Amino acid sequence: MSDCLFCKIRDGLIPAKVVYRDDVCVAFEDINPQAPTHVLFIPRKHIPTVNDITAEDRELVGHLFTAAAKVAQERGHADPSDGYRVVMNTHAHAGQTVFHIHLHLLAGRPLGWPPG
Ligand code: 5GP
Ligand code: ZN
Repeated sequence: MSDCLFCKIRDGLIPAKVVYRDDVCVAFEDINPQAPTHVLFIPRKHIPTVNDITAEDRELVGHLFTAAAKVAQERGHADPSDGYRVVMNTHAHAGQTVFHIHLHLLAGRPLGWPPG
């Protein structure tokens, strides 16, 4: 996707603070963090929304979760007295603004529930 912001970050065409990368995903600090830890995990494959995930993407999606858990653990958020949230927003009511799926990792403060 030539005009996709996150594909450009994946390709290094737009700078980002990359915190993790492997052959399946790239993770970088959110530019407008909503918590002390706010990292976005994107698959290298361009998938616009959760609606577009197919059966062949199952391993890829699971990979995003294990990568997020790894970074959460590295930052001390896996401890039961700490904790974190992982979330993907889809379309208008959830506030999706970038149409390349991304798993938000939020942590470092108490996170309200239900979300707004
Ligand atoms: P969404 O609202 O689609 O779930 O999340 C998009 C996220 O991407 C937002 O939290 C927003 O702050 C972040 N974001 C938007 N543009 C950029 C950018 O250029 N660089 C980085 N690092 N994050 C961005
Ligand atoms: Zn993309």
